[in-house]
Amino acid sequence: MECVFCEIVAGRVETDKVYESDDVLVIQDLNPVAPVHLLIFPRSHVAKLSAMDEENADLLSHVMLIAKRSAIELGLDKSGYRVVINEGAMGGQTVQHFHAHILGGRQMHWPPG
Ligand code: 5GP
Ligand code: ZN
Repeated sequence: MECVFCEIVAGRVETDKVYESDDVLVIQDLNPVAPVHLLIFPRSHVAKLSAMDEENADLLSHVMLIAKRSAIELGLDKSGYRVVINEGAMGGQTVQHFHAHILGGRQMHWPPG
C-alpha cells in the first residue's frame, strides 16, 4: 500500500524540507494547525510508535534531538512548543508512517482535543 511519507522520502511527492539527515526528514506539514508545524519522520518505514522496540532506540532519540534542534533553529525554544506523536486510531494517527509533530508559535492548551 502506498505510503505518502515513503513517497516524500523517494522524492515522488513534493514537500518543503526543513532538514534531512541520513536517517530522518523534517518537513512542513501540508495542513498546519499552528504558525509552526513541522513533521519529523525516519526515512525507513515503521508504521507507528508501538512498532518500535529496543532496536529503534537510537532512531527514536535521534528524532527527539532533531525535534529539539529544529525548535531552537526556528526560535521556539524561548516561547515554548509542543512535540506530539499520535498513535493508532484513538490517538488520531492518519499517516501510517511513524512521525512526530513540532507545534509552536501560539499558545497550546491542555487537555488536547
Ligand atoms: P497524524 O494525524 O498521522 O499524526 O499526522 C499526519 C500529518 O501529515 C497531518 O498533520 C497531515 O496534515 C500531514 N500530511 C499528510 N499528507 C501530507 C503530505 O503529503 N505532505 C505533508 N507535508 N504533510 C502531509
Ligand atoms: Zn512509509
